[in-house]
Amino acid sequence: MAGVSYPYEYDAPVSQNLFDRASAVTPGGVNSPVRAFRAVGGTPRFMVSGTGPYLTDADGREYVDLVCSWGPMILGHAHPEVVAAVQEAVARGTSFGTPGEGEVALAEEIVARIEPVEQVRLVSSGTEATMSAIRLARGFTGRAKVIKFAGCYHGHVDALLAAAGSGVATFGLPDTPGVTGAQAGDTIVLPYNDLDAVHAAFHANPGEIACVITEASPGNMGVVPPADGFNAGLKAACAKNGALYISDEVMTGFRTSKAGWFGVDGVVPDLMTFGKVMGGGFPAAAFGGRADVMGHLAPAGPVYQAGTLSGNPVATAAGLAQLRLLDDAAYAKVDAVSREVQALVTGALSKEGVAHRVQTASNMFSVFFTADEVCNYDDAKKQESFRFNGFFHSMLSQGVYLPPSAFESWFLSTAHDERAIERIAAALPAAARAAAEATA
Ligand code: PLP
Repeated sequence: MAGVSYPYEYDAPVSQNLFDRASAVTPGGVNSPVRAFRAVGGTPRFMVSGTGPYLTDADGREYVDLVCSWGPMILGHAHPEVVAAVQEAVARGTSFGTPGEGEVALAEEIVARIEPVEQVRLVSSGTEATMSAIRLARGFTGRAKVIKFAGCYHGHVDALLAAAGSGVATFGLPDTPGVTGAQAGDTIVLPYNDLDAVHAAFHANPGEIACVITEASPGNMGVVPPADGFNAGLKAACAKNGALYISDEVMTGFRTSKAGWFGVDGVVPDLMTFGKVMGGGFPAAAFGGRADVMGHLAPAGPVYQAGTLSGNPVATAAGLAQLRLLDDAAYAKVDAVSREVQALVTGALSKEGVAHRVQTASNMFSVFFTADEVCNYDDAKKQESFRFNGFFHSMLSQGVYLPPSAFESWFLSTAHDERAIERIAAALPAAARAAAEATA
């Protein structure tokens, strides 16, 4: 979409030049698809630095950042204590391929914060965490099938890149070329927030389902929190049928509270996955849970899992420094600033008569361009997402960086201060007008 002109697009010649260079050597010019602005059009901004709530692009423009690296930067960019911990760790060497104390300390911090996690294994990405948790669940139960929900994203794990069909107990069809029918064929995709569908799937596949994996509170179809009793119902259905309940907290973990979404709804999973915040901006992720299940992992048990850079000393130092700064006061601050931004967005859109819904999961929230409640992926797709594009580009041109898609959560940090909020408030009226004037 490079070179397409939008009413609120402004020149970003250095980013454009970098994007042209990138597109020659990297598919689509980016290393992760949503960064490419395909949903909203225009030139992705190449960022060169970040401080607190701000990012600066290659053209020298500053933005209030409402993406926060898709969640990890909950203390803002370049937090001095995280930077100091990283510098100290780097100076001691960057990778040893042996165990180290930093890994133990990070694992202890996770176990201390999240009661259901008795043992934890560190990995390098959320994708690795969910992939490994699924393998472990299959190895532990000796079963093959996996239930996931439409609109929930668990990374680019082959078995989990299966889209929903309609109806109950739809068997997964590969969602992307390269995933074979065999890889996705043991995946059952169900509508989110539909416990009847879950019960029907267990009924139709007796003794075959290894696990149910769900985002603890989904943020990847926009923010669609679980209905009251949904997660508890999943847990009960799994327990009754001898399957494991896997709560994917890669996005919500250490963000929605000190103990992530578990700290909000208290439903005890068998296994959990983490990433984003726990890495402090570095590639660190984890999966953990019941000791008897985790004990099946190599070298303690037969289920193989490994990683050259797992528990990397620099990544663990960054994650540990960030987690240690995340006390009750820090979460109260992010929650408060998130509420403030939500109110500003609603105020501006309402003033322009734009039908919308702000849906929240603690300090995570997203804005759906529909008046109706969004309970699942089908609901989310019914929104007038064309309104988001004008809204997005207006905000961008005024120095506010939103996720470049109508189906994502917005993320705040402890660093979003009054100046940042004022910048957002000042940008919103024109953006709301752009949303009102947008046509399909
Ligand atoms: N699970 C959830 C809920 C996520 O939001 C993501 C990424 O956005 C992942 C897993 C995959 O994590 P990663 O991108 O680190 O592989």
